[in-house]
Amino acid sequence: MKIKIKRFHPHFEPPSIDMEYAVQETATLLDALLQIKRQKDRTLTFDYMCRSGVCGSCAVRVDGKEVLACQHTPKDGEYIEPLSVVDVIRDLSVRLEDALVTLERSKAYPLDMQKIAMSEEDERRIERQSDCILCSSCFSSCPVYASNEAFLGPFALSRVWRYVADKREQAKKEHIDAVVQNGIWDCTLCGNCTEVCPQGIDPKNDIMMLQSKAVQFGYQNPNLGGFGSFGLEF
Ligand code: SF4
Ligand code: SF4
Repeated sequence: MKIKIKRFHPHFEPPSIDMEYAVQETATLLDALLQIKRQKDRTLTFDYMCRSGVCGSCAVRVDGKEVLACQHTPKDGEYIEPLSVVDVIRDLSVRLEDALVTLERSKAYPLDMQKIAMSEEDERRIERQSDCILCSSCFSSCPVYASNEAFLGPFALSRVWRYVADKREQAKKEHIDAVVQNGIWDCTLCGNCTEVCPQGIDPKNDIMMLQSKAVQFGYQNPNLGGFGSFGLEF
């Protein structure tokens, strides 16, 4: 089996070249990358830690689609690239600080939580978003972020919805206020983020829920001429 990898080194000329490697069949792409590093090219650089889909550090693109290397079974002829819209350090290793700072910019953290009992249904409403492993796959897949670096992006907005939907959070409007600029109205609802999420999170739907909540708080959806509430009651 052969796979092609986009190699990058900032001090080489050209800095980026495609290299093809013959590898034995492996259960995961991460195993194939480790095989190359151990047997063929010690300079190949990529990130990984847990090897079991928990840490989110091994996200790459395969034939243009984001996957976790530790969960993807490689196939002959596949083309492996680093995540897009983030700075590449070397080969498949990327700098995720710009993506992670969107959590701070969108206030994707608890603001004013009261201590009250949560029912099972209350827990269920926010548990999926809480499973985010910050792999940045959704961020890489987002066409809006690719053209507007100020966009807050899918995983930050999804996490904001996690707090707006949390019964204990009292500062729901403050959360909404933080995501109306470069946030919920800029999303094209293309669904790329939902398609690539390895955790089954649905940022597109969470953004639609935020839009609906924003309308309840008096904001107008500039894309719908003021309509767009989906009837939320909490
Ligand atoms: S649905 Fe919105 S946030 Fe998700 S990838 Fe598309 S434009 Fe980006
Ligand atoms: S929402 Fe999904 S794809 Fe996006 S960072 Fe979290 S786990 Fe990764």
